[in-house]
Amino acid sequence: MRKDVEELSRRLGDVRIHTGAQYRYSYNFDATGRRGECLGVVFPEGLDPLVRIVREAGRVGLPVFMRGAGTGFSGGSVPVGGGLVVSTEKMRRVLDFNRTASTVEVEAGIVNKELQDYLYPHGFFYPPDPASLKVSTIGGNIAENAGGPRAYKYGVTRRYVLSLTWITIAGEVIESPFEGVAALLTGAEGTLGVIYSARLDIRPLPEVAVTSVVQAGNGPDAMERAAELLSSGFCPTVLEFIDSRTMACVSEYMQANEFDTGDSFLFFEVDGPRDEVATQQEILESYCRENGLGIVKAGDETERETLWELRRAISPSLARKGITKVNEDVSLPLGSLADAVSFINDRASQLDLDCYVFGHCGDGNLHVNIMTDRRKTEEMRRSMIFVRDLFEEVVRLGGTLSGEHGIGITKNRYLDILFSGGELELQKNLKRCFDPEEYLNPGKYFSGIVSSGSGRS
Ligand SMILES: Cc1cc2nc3c(=O)[nH]c(=O)nc-3n(C[C@H](O)[C@H](O)[C@H](O)COP(=O)(O)OP(=O)(O)OC[C@H]3O[C@@H](n4cnc5c(N)ncnc54)[C@H](O)[C@@H]3O)c2cc1C
Repeated sequence: MRKDVEELSRRLGDVRIHTGAQYRYSYNFDATGRRGECLGVVFPEGLDPLVRIVREAGRVGLPVFMRGAGTGFSGGSVPVGGGLVVSTEKMRRVLDFNRTASTVEVEAGIVNKELQDYLYPHGFFYPPDPASLKVSTIGGNIAENAGGPRAYKYGVTRRYVLSLTWITIAGEVIESPFEGVAALLTGAEGTLGVIYSARLDIRPLPEVAVTSVVQAGNGPDAMERAAELLSSGFCPTVLEFIDSRTMACVSEYMQANEFDTGDSFLFFEVDGPRDEVATQQEILESYCRENGLGIVKAGDETERETLWELRRAISPSLARKGITKVNEDVSLPLGSLADAVSFINDRASQLDLDCYVFGHCGDGNLHVNIMTDRRKTEEMRRSMIFVRDLFEEVVRLGGTLSGEHGIGITKNRYLDILFSGGELELQKNLKRCFDPEEYLNPGKYFSGIVSSGSGRS
């Protein structure tokens, strides 16, 4: 055991640090597959042990890496450079449910789906629904400002955080309303403070939901159709884009050949009161009739679930196309999506890369995936050229580097494409206010800000 871990263990007394090889190995990576060095893992069960761990680790000078379920796609929880992993697995209680105020307070480690299952019998739901909701935690969702298919109508995590109880690196417990520091912690990827619990806004369950899949031509055409529909007053809950290559892959995986037509698809859901949903659905269906677009509408709950299974099968089906996924999630204004998709297709084909595009396009969010193999160094080199070109084009089109997966260790070297030098310096100063010694999640977002001279001019 390293001396600083030994010292921390002595100070923590009955809070056990697990340093066995199985722990250090299992907690040193996330969904990116990138690994750091986990010196030990702790599983606090409540506020008091969590406060002691954070405070004493800070005093000993041991970096702290908060970890929910490790489903992050930007390496946010990876213990870069070595440190203590603090898992929230054993902090998943519902602390309060207030029906009249439509709020719930939960510990950070509760899994999103556990919260949904708790709320359902009470007639409520929590709108942010990342595709990882069966495993990812509310703490991780807040730290990444997670989005999901329902984001077009309901917005992303930020909209639902009412207040956070969090711990500074000095071990002080603060309850911040969203109008204060909680807004900064939401999306800060665990770099500014440790979230213990969150009070969240929740919504009554909608009366009905109708799901449809529309055959929408090539990628840029599909984006133009989506923009046309939205500007005609159509207000879906879900508006997802699945390009033809991704759909072919999913169709093969799910043995759903009727969707392997060489077209891109738009995936819609409308929800709300029955008459409102009927009106919205009619706007969609008449648009499809007028434009000769094929539409498959789920007639009942079973068919609706089948269509959602198709959507959820994207990630596992792509996994069969390559052992390494270069996984980017850019975000753009709706009006720029068609140009972005054309650029992505052209550039991937020029660089001879196997590229798949899908995402929550209603929210401007596109997932761009290159399926490759990290052992093929020449192909990886071309993939990295693609990624920088993609980010430069996205920023030129008015977009940003990440829609929902965060910056972490995968995108911190590209911050200079988006931000000016002055802005980056201000951000670095903000980090210094919260965590002067850089003990909280070091090696991530802020380590991408290398000098005051970096950044866009
Ligand atoms: C198949 C798949 C589908 C996905 N789909 C989506 C999607 O639709 N939308 C989306 O937004 N994301 C998606 N993701 C990415 C990922 O699930 C989200 O980023 C999620 O919010 C991470 O939650 P987690 O509990 O796994 O957090 P982790 O990966 O463990 O950690 C993520 C970040 O949160 C920080 N953190 C965790 N807990 C705390 C805490 N208590 N206090 C302070 N910081 C903390 C960590 O330090 C890290 O920086 C997907 C991932 C997978 C694998």
